[in-house]
Amino acid sequence: MKIIKFGGKSLANGDGLKQVISILKNKHQSGEQVVVVLSARGDSTDRLENILELAKNGKSFSEEFRAFKEYQLDPCDNICLEEEFDLLERIFEGVQLLGDYSNKVKDKVLSQGELLSVKVVTILLKENGLKAELTDTRKLIITNKNHGDAQPFEAVSRKNIRDHFKKLEAGAIAVVTGFIASDQEGETTTLGRNGSNYTASLLANYLDAEEFQNYTHVNGIYTANPEWVHNAKKITHLSFQEANELANFGASILHAKTIVPLIEKNIPLRILNTFNPENEGTLISSENNGKGIKSINVINDVTLVNFEGQGLLGKVGIDARIFNSLSRENISVNIISQGSSERAIGFIIKTADAARAKETLEQEFESDIEKKDVHGITFNNEVVIISTVGQDLKTFHNAFYSLVKNDIEPILINNTLSGKNVCLVIHKKDLRKTVNVIHGEIFGISKRVNIAVFGKGLIGGTLIEQINESREKVLRRKNIDLNIFAISNSKKVLLNKDGISENWTADFDKKAINYGLEDIISYTKKHHLENLIAVDVTASEDFVYHYTDLIENGFDLVSANKIGNTIDYGFYKDLREQLRLNQKEYLYETNVGAGLPLIDTIKLLHLSGENITRIKGVFSGSLSYLFNTFSVEDISFSEVLENAISRGYTEPDPREDLCGNDVGRKLLILARELDLISEFGDISIHNLIPENLRNGEVTEFLSRIDELDDVYHEIKEKQESNHVLRYVGDLSGDLSREDGGLLEVKLESVPGDSALGQVKGSDSIFEIYTESYGEQPLVIQGAGAGAQVTARGVFGDILRLAEKNNK
Ligand code: ASP
Ligand code: MG
Repeated sequence: MKIIKFGGKSLANGDGLKQVISILKNKHQSGEQVVVVLSARGDSTDRLENILELAKNGKSFSEEFRAFKEYQLDPCDNICLEEEFDLLERIFEGVQLLGDYSNKVKDKVLSQGELLSVKVVTILLKENGLKAELTDTRKLIITNKNHGDAQPFEAVSRKNIRDHFKKLEAGAIAVVTGFIASDQEGETTTLGRNGSNYTASLLANYLDAEEFQNYTHVNGIYTANPEWVHNAKKITHLSFQEANELANFGASILHAKTIVPLIEKNIPLRILNTFNPENEGTLISSENNGKGIKSINVINDVTLVNFEGQGLLGKVGIDARIFNSLSRENISVNIISQGSSERAIGFIIKTADAARAKETLEQEFESDIEKKDVHGITFNNEVVIISTVGQDLKTFHNAFYSLVKNDIEPILINNTLSGKNVCLVIHKKDLRKTVNVIHGEIFGISKRVNIAVFGKGLIGGTLIEQINESREKVLRRKNIDLNIFAISNSKKVLLNKDGISENWTADFDKKAINYGLEDIISYTKKHHLENLIAVDVTASEDFVYHYTDLIENGFDLVSANKIGNTIDYGFYKDLREQLRLNQKEYLYETNVGAGLPLIDTIKLLHLSGENITRIKGVFSGSLSYLFNTFSVEDISFSEVLENAISRGYTEPDPREDLCGNDVGRKLLILARELDLISEFGDISIHNLIPENLRNGEVTEFLSRIDELDDVYHEIKEKQESNHVLRYVGDLSGDLSREDGGLLEVKLESVPGDSALGQVKGSDSIFEIYTESYGEQPLVIQGAGAGAQVTARGVFGDILRLAEKNNK
């Protein structure tokens, strides 16, 4: 025999009730023997409680009562519920007259919810051609007189139940009231809110049921609330012990008392969904897979009390006075935290108790407050507790680190010595973000990284395509979900918290809106987006001034834009200070040598104490192509330049490459990586454009490029034999001194068989000389320009940030 229980939401008018009847019909037809325990339907218990309060306060309740009755009558045409309605009406009128009611009266009223429920369901079953019999548990379950939270007397209740169900007609579905019972004098009692589960598990115990099936409105127990956490997972199996732990820490499906009668008789409990009966739900049984479960639960309606006083230092008995006075008022204290300085103590109580707690504490400490030994007792109800069951502190560091990275500062943190449970008290406003971040971390489920791409030009566009193509793979291999939630150009932004689609270009044209940076920031807050990364693939100087704003609002930065690293040193320094203060990161691997792993290598060498003595190389892909070709082919300089332009190797105005500034900027970035305090103006740059062609329109320059031919022909001819021309950046000098760097950008003639001389095509090359490597430099060489490799490099930086601290 199985015990089946349906909760209030399952029994609500409409779909719910229909499902319940159909589930029971199926069970009956397949020959299953069932006893069905019911809650009150919909939110009937709350409604009754509400009407009682109205009556007590002398307010009119007729409208609410009428609606209540209508709700009860809705499912069947020929049903008579007058008896229950009459009783309720008489009680409500009495309460209105007296202006008060007792817990005993309240139990009598609330019990009608369950009584009405079984009546309705029994009739519906009969209408569907099924045999059904109604059982009123007030005649069977006998409790003490603790109204509102009564405790059953075991022996007598067991006997009554067994005798009763023995007599029940075979083949009939027993429809039983949950929640309600009576004391030894026959007065109605209730087992506490959500008590129907308890009724059902008692019945399971007394009748030696083979299983207890608890039909709810959810698919089972989850690792976190699935409405908040998009990748919350259903827990398919729990041990009794684990379930008990969950029940204690706020998983509302389980009444704390429910588990015990089941453990005693080793009866499995299955959490099922009335609205999705095919789903196998969560099974709770004595089996323990030894792995342990983890689940995140939220405890609402709590208040943080902060008790502060300089005069408390070393005083004995303060804590005792606090808790004694609270316990006199029957106020239970949840989390407690006190520092070793003993100057302040913080603890959590139920918000419903806050007013009474304030009164009691102020009374208790009246004279201490007067003497200023106690400074203040503050109450904050804008907090919630997040409890992670199955989690110990030892392995909580990743989650904690992630919280801090996401600008969530727990107010209190607390772990239990026995049992695995870490509790955090946090600000209510951070709730959803916190649950998501912790969930991602402790389950190693995918970690969602939310990316805003600023700049949708060639590199930005390529990057977005690359991320879209790899998203699935990165998710599978690394457990990282790369979610681009914003794409913008200088005027408009396309926003979608769930990620932009493959048709983002068309969407941008249709849906992008005008924006200021603050709009994007408030969007991230509104939607609780975590793990934020801002990607700067603009070439804009203005945008760089937004970096600090982004950092302060929770973003890490990735940039292909060199400007942030090459404007004045003051900005450079300040940016790093902001990063440090906000514990944020800024990666810009593509600033030099595009995707080549250059900056990271230099950073590591430098950090590990390796003395870098010189960095030299061909830093520009376009100029590399120009001189590589010109040096070995019998061709004029202008012809090579024209080829480079037509292949898209240069900027639209090739003078931007030829002037050497871009190489200079890259050199400056490398110098600053080595902690040299250098400015752009300190660099000696050989400008490749003859002076008379430096100004004026591009078109004019392009029409006169053959004027360059003589200049470079002469330079080429004058070289030693087997030498070639290379346009190099060279950082030398005494690099151990902040101001000892020599920064030069120049055209050099080098032996054709040297490292620099052998560079081909449009490759870049970097020679890094260090003390330990001696004469032989570390060489990094390869494609150092182009949208594909640059975007790939930016992507690499994004992954590096995303992977930080990932398991
Ligand atoms: N109807 C009662 C309540 O709402 C008991 C239950 O649903 O389990 O608390
Ligand atoms: Mg690079």
